Amino acid sequence: MRVKCVICDEIEAIEDESVTAKRLRNRPIHTYMCKSCSTRITEKTNARIETGNFRLYRTKSEKDEW
Ligand SMILES: [Zn+2]
Repeated sequence: MRVKCVICDEIEAIEDESVTAKRLRNRPIHTYMCKSCSTRITEKTNARIETGNFRLYRTKSEKDEW
């Protein structure tokens, strides 16, 4: 099946029997991210966790909501 990356609009072909394809059949196609985008986001998230800013920000916003 062909899927469109939600971030860069790139069309990719994935195996019909792959885990990703099965997951996408149960969810909107908009949730698909291509490999380069998901790698980039994973790296960004890991970098933020390493600096500690990510966790500090989350903790602060949860406190504010309560
Ligand atoms: Zn992409």
